[in-house]
Amino acid sequence: DLALYEAKRAGRGRSRLFQPGMDTLLHERREMEIDLRRALALKQFELHYQPFLDLASDEVIGFEALLRWRHPVRGNVPPLAFIPLAEENGLIVKIGEWVLRTACLQAATWPGERTVAVNVSPLQFKADTLLETVKAALERANLPPRRLELEITEGALLDNTDSVIRTLNALRDLGVMISMDDFGTGYSSLSYLQKFPFNKIKIDRSFVAGASADSEAILRAVAGLGTSLGMAITAEGVETAEQLARIRGERCTHVQGYLTGRPMAAEQIGDFLTRPDPVTALEDTAA
Ligand code: C2E
Ligand code: MG
Ligand code: MG
Ligand code: MG
Repeated sequence: DLALYEAKRAGRGRSRLFQPGMDTLLHERREMEIDLRRALALKQFELHYQPFLDLASDEVIGFEALLRWRHPVRGNVPPLAFIPLAEENGLIVKIGEWVLRTACLQAATWPGERTVAVNVSPLQFKADTLLETVKAALERANLPPRRLELEITEGALLDNTDSVIRTLNALRDLGVMISMDDFGTGYSSLSYLQKFPFNKIKIDRSFVAGASADSEAILRAVAGLGTSLGMAITAEGVETAEQLARIRGERCTHVQGYLTGRPMAAEQIGDFLTRPDPVTALEDTAA
């Protein structure tokens, strides 16, 4: 209840004053972990969806599911503030199952044949239940496998290479699409593109921002290589009409970013899809 909660809060503030440094950090972390353990049961998670467009048609052909934690005290905790913790203590496996189940159920209600892209943590691969979890989520939602895309970061590929390849191949055999997320950050290795069965490369937004001639050269090279290997290429994090214009000149097939749509609540998707064509509208205002 509120009074108890306020008292606890005041108490926390005091302990922060008297024991700064490591103790406070550990305490804070422990509290966050306790809260995280309860978050699923208390239904504090929610998925938001960010559209991605096909650059040939300018159509919204899918949405990426992005996890949101509505904490009663902390407010909205961004994924990068709790996913690493959930990975360290293994909670990400249960949370990831919920994400897959929820994303498939919600995608099944969308108009058209749009794809839902779900981020998968390396830990979910190690748990060895990913294939079964994906199958169960698809069946329960009655969603065709081709409408599900799994996004994997390079970190997932570092160890257990053989078992990761086996799982990825089994998922592909099922008909699910596999994307390499945030390409160019982390431990990128071009050999990954050959070794793992990706359908798509998502080029990290740091290369899309066009901050330097180098980043443009990298974007061009990766898009060229991915295209010759038969993969789709998404430019992530496109925020301005200038960036979009530049991306159109490269061999990118898809675009995702604030310019073409911010992450939104599931209930907003219907309205979003019925507004006038987003890209044309934007280019008209820019002109
Ligand atoms: P990501 O998979 O690369 O997702 C894209 C992130 O970039 C999202 O941040 C999105 O809101 C943000 N973004 C999209 N367009 C733009 C843009 O134009 N400009 C800028 N500045 N940012 C843009 P978000 O939602 O905070 O998610 C951060 C990361 O957390 C994700 O990066 C992903 O790695 C991870 N994540 C999110 N949901 C899940 C999940 O369900 N499971 C797992 N394992 N990881 C997740
Ligand atoms: Mg992603
Ligand atoms: Mg990404
Ligand atoms: Mg990212």
